[in-house]
Amino acid sequence: MLWQKELPAADLVIRGARVLDPVEGIDARLEVRIDAGTIAEVAERIDANEHRVVEADGLILAPAFVDPHVHLRTPGREDEETIASGTAAAAAGGYCAILAMPNTDPVVDSAVTLAALVETARREAEVPVGFLAAITRGQRGEELTEMGELADSGAVAFSDDGVPVASAGLMRRALQYASTTDRPLALHCEEPTLSHGGHVHEGRVAAELGFGGYPSVAESVAVERDLSLAGYERGRVHVLHLSAAESVDALRRARVAGVTASGEATPHHLVLTDDAVRSLDPNVKMNPPLRAEQDRLALLEALRDGTI
Ligand SMILES: [Zn+2]
Repeated sequence: MLWQKELPAADLVIRGARVLDPVEGIDARLEVRIDAGTIAEVAERIDANEHRVVEADGLILAPAFVDPHVHLRTPGREDEETIASGTAAAAAGGYCAILAMPNTDPVVDSAVTLAALVETARREAEVPVGFLAAITRGQRGEELTEMGELADSGAVAFSDDGVPVASAGLMRRALQYASTTDRPLALHCEEPTLSHGGHVHEGRVAAELGFGGYPSVAESVAVERDLSLAGYERGRVHVLHLSAAESVDALRRARVAGVTASGEATPHHLVLTDDAVRSLDPNVKMNPPLRAEQDRLALLEALRDGTI
């Protein structure tokens, strides 16, 4: 379920934009009329009548995006992001819906915390927002949350994003419980005994700069494990922020084998490699880290063929 505040439905005519819609096969300079919030007409020339006119010369008009991986930092760090500011940013960037991760402070691991978020979203959210709840209490990887209760309270999926569920046994039980709620698990795949809290890809750049490396296999071994468990339990999983070619291969193979799995990649993993770390800009150190050119190309390929 998604929530937002009540907004008046718009009557608009948008003029001058390049209208792009890959699904409908449209790429042309067209005008679009919106009646009470619904697209009513797409044509070369539309009379505005009483509608407000938006001049959009030089702009692209396209179906809005959905971002399934957002950190609103609420509750706990409202100084960084609130539901109001995060959803306003989403709207400004062309997003019509977002899903927020539960690694806040407190973690969204109880129906009470989730209910408070839903209430705030109903008051503040500029675009529809949905909330994931944690897989484990406090995201400590020790005991499962009350998934049934959280699903009933509106959780759209479960995730310990930011940290992995390190125990395979616990992951198996999470898949079993999540299945009963008909919600997927969104998985941060990282084997902590291989990543060692690193932020730089294990390779030439890390070696030259003297950083402890975070190897691709620290991700792919966890992706392989979770996809195997999902196949075994017939669970539904979404693999978060893929970074390594080996992980992409694993996801592609699992999907071909019939596992109900999807995956995502971040824009920065699609356009940057660990070469960017040479700048020593702390913004390019992240988890999972920026990887090698062959990994970036594998992500692009997977995006094109629908694996991602
Ligand atoms: Zn995240």
